[in-house]
Amino acid sequence: MRTIALLGATGSIGRQTLDVVRSAPDQFHITAMTAHANADALFALVREFKPEVAGLYVEPDHIPEDLKSTEWFFGEGFLTRVLEAAKADDVLSAVVGIAGLPAALKALETSERLLLANKESLVTGGHLVMEKAKRLGRQILPVDSEHSAIFQCLQGAADNPVQSLILTASGGPFRTWNKERVFSAKVSDALGHPTWKMGPKITVDCASMMNKGLEVIEAHHLFNMPLEKIDVAVHPESIIHSMVEFEDGAVIAQLGLPDMRVPIGYAMGYPNRVPFGGERLNLKKLGRLTFEEPDTGRFPCLKMAYEAQRMGGVMPVALNGGNEAAVAAFLKEKIPFGGIAEINARVLERTAMKPVSCVGDVYEADRAARELAEREIARLLIG
Ligand code: NAD
Ligand code: MG
Repeated sequence: MRTIALLGATGSIGRQTLDVVRSAPDQFHITAMTAHANADALFALVREFKPEVAGLYVEPDHIPEDLKSTEWFFGEGFLTRVLEAAKADDVLSAVVGIAGLPAALKALETSERLLLANKESLVTGGHLVMEKAKRLGRQILPVDSEHSAIFQCLQGAADNPVQSLILTASGGPFRTWNKERVFSAKVSDALGHPTWKMGPKITVDCASMMNKGLEVIEAHHLFNMPLEKIDVAVHPESIIHSMVEFEDGAVIAQLGLPDMRVPIGYAMGYPNRVPFGGERLNLKKLGRLTFEEPDTGRFPCLKMAYEAQRMGGVMPVALNGGNEAAVAAFLKEKIPFGGIAEINARVLERTAMKPVSCVGDVYEADRAARELAEREIARLLIG
């Protein structure tokens, strides 16, 4: 039996993690669960899974009588306080955004393994997180499907050097749209992802291909791989989740239907696989798998991520912070879809290069980037 602290239990990854627990209740026990503001959704989950500890950022008016045996935390710093109280074997971080960074750093102190869905913590604080994991001898297991695929492809690779990592991308809902149409796409268009069902922020990131850019940076940190050895191929069917090329020209791929319960279960059970009751891959029914070069003219965010990480220091933090602010404004229908890429480009342009030596530097760069983004948002306001 492994105990798991689940951060972001009410979200897309959180709910699918709980599905895996439901399918193997004798293997996993949830000792802690958190959500941002949706108290009723969290109450229902706490009632079902009976964790010892729970937390909400927004303190609710009251805690139902039958949930009072759980220890509750609220407000600023609630994720790290939950982790300190929970003492779980593993932490699965499925919160969205840079809020996941302090939680990831704390998880490395409190638990043996960090099962990481929250990519923004690596994009913004990648070297701090990886250095701390190394220093404390902790394992970080990827939950993001591409990184789980790469991790699976590397099993049995021994010490053979990797020639390149090939991340696949669905291309998102606007893959075949022209530039003008992409620019003025609506929120409902952006939220209609062709192959994956996910939370709103990452779904918008997929539509702009910023998600793939963030994932390139995530892979760079997780697998200690130089950017020039990380390639992206658009693969609209989302069946090959990513690939590893070795020196002898052999390419190993991991395939499956697009269902996040598979990479979540792989991280939870590692090194054992958790039996899966969902639909299974039938290649003969699918017929063919296709691949394309990403179009960085229509989707410039992917190129920006490579550029920001190549410059290093505060630049990836600025790109992430600007993007979080821009996506939030787009989801509130304040700016057009094309405004996201414009804002990200302007934030990078106006950010002065500085090194990052501690977590305080990350938060300062994030704050400055959001301020720059807000100014651009005001300029781009619709109506
Ligand atoms: P979501 O929006 O569906 O859920 C986010 C969860 O985090 C919710 O439980 C919410 O209450 C909580 N939360 C939101 N803001 C918070 C804050 N400031 N502090 C603490 N908790 C907060 O998001 P999701 O789609 O489940 O994605 C979660 C993370 O996993 C993201 O980093 C995303 O990039 C990554 N990811 C998601 C998928 C997917 O299929 N959904 C796939 C790969 C990676
Ligand atoms: Mg992914």
